[in-house]
Amino acid sequence: LGSKINSALSKLNTATVIDEETIDEVLKEIAKALLSSDVNVRVVAEVRNNIRKEVLSEAAAGGATNKTRQIRNAVFSELVRLLSPSKEPFTPKRGRCNVFMFVGLQGSGKTTTIAKFANYWARKGWKTAMVCCDTFRAGALDQIKQNAIKLHIPYYGNPLEADPVKLAEEGTEHFRAEKYEIILVDTSGRHHQESELFEEMEQVQGVVQPDEVIFVMDSTIGQAVAEQAAAFKASVPVGSVIITKLDGHARGGGALSAVAATDAPITFIGTGEHFDEFEKFDANSFVSRLMGMGDVKGLMEKLKDTKALEKAPEMMERMQKGQFTLRDLRQQFQTVMGMGNLGQVMSMIPGMSQMMQGQDSDQATKRIQAFMTCFDSMTEDELDCIFKVRKPDPSKPGEYITTFEKTLSESRMRRIAKGAGVPLEGVLALMQSHKQFEGMVQKMGKSGLMNEKQMQQN
Ligand code: GDP
Ligand code: MG
Repeated sequence: LGSKINSALSKLNTATVIDEETIDEVLKEIAKALLSSDVNVRVVAEVRNNIRKEVLSEAAAGGATNKTRQIRNAVFSELVRLLSPSKEPFTPKRGRCNVFMFVGLQGSGKTTTIAKFANYWARKGWKTAMVCCDTFRAGALDQIKQNAIKLHIPYYGNPLEADPVKLAEEGTEHFRAEKYEIILVDTSGRHHQESELFEEMEQVQGVVQPDEVIFVMDSTIGQAVAEQAAAFKASVPVGSVIITKLDGHARGGGALSAVAATDAPITFIGTGEHFDEFEKFDANSFVSRLMGMGDVKGLMEKLKDTKALEKAPEMMERMQKGQFTLRDLRQQFQTVMGMGNLGQVMSMIPGMSQMMQGQDSDQATKRIQAFMTCFDSMTEDELDCIFKVRKPDPSKPGEYITTFEKTLSESRMRRIAKGAGVPLEGVLALMQSHKQFEGMVQKMGKSGLMNEKQMQQN
């Protein structure tokens, strides 16, 4: 999506005059890009109108550069707005039973998500349990059982009981009596007839009386999202949404449509099959990644999990002041290489996400390896971003003065490229990534986002 939006915006640079017509042209391209990322047609029309109004109402001062920024910002804030419905998700309270019922089509990732969700709360010390009332899918109970054993979390199920409503009632009663704080009810997702599924869901909801109904949605189903979400919403009171299979964030547009259709906030996203591939949802981060702008905040949180930052207190201190050198970037890449699921991590790095679109982990690894060889052919000063330039002193012929420049000169880049055996474009891409990274770090430094305490609270 990011690269498509960029190419749409680049039209502004080639236009001789920026009038309403040019802007409409650009907005049309952006609308196409959103559609191809699975944003629902109606939502796209709404976004387009809002952006149009905003962009045309502001004076077109400063020409193409300003307009480009203005439109990009408008797209960004419009998407964030869409992802932030006024309704708050339910927050569980300690010392009482909080019952969550999970609904969604078969294969959407309910059972997996329940395990992740259970793990999330259990790790925080909440007394957590799972109830299986999927009597439809063969092996549903086994799947829960295996997850439960791995996570050391109790579960309720009965292979001899064929009535899901009865199972739901017994299971929740059982754990309510034992004062479990987080009780998760897994439902089945498909019946021979759709109306049967919704009927069953309503009955389960009736006996369970959940505090929150969570709609689990597969992000890869494309334009069908809106319709599906609306159908579930019409049957049970969906309070929040969890989006699964957002492993690469390639087509996250469905998330926007799901929120628009349910008016319910997204709380978490699933980014893989493992229990820890589960993230708290943040609209700003999500849109950043969707638009190929990277997500430094999300990346910092991931890095924090690996304890890489604790091992590099100096770098952390510098970053809090908004400083970020090439050496720091190398360190980040080194950590990232050891983090697994490289494609996903790369989508969080500014300047990388667009390059990474449609590439798998192997290609991503090769790319970072090429960057590492570039770092290897840099001098110590260059790694510290101290670009010394020696120039003849005009006042004293034959003598030189040393000055410092902010950017790496082209001749230096050529030398680095040659040393690393990569084309000049490779070094340019690396420098671009560094520049964007530095910009984000500066912004975060200013806003205090880099602050350890704040990061822990988030
Ligand atoms: P259910 O029928 O709704 O309970 O769906 P399951 O939990 O059984 O998941 C269906 C399939 O999707 C399984 O193979 C899961 O491993 C897979 N899955 C679930 N969540 C994710 C995710 O976030 N990313 C990926 N890649 N796969 C997932
Ligand atoms: Mg299931």
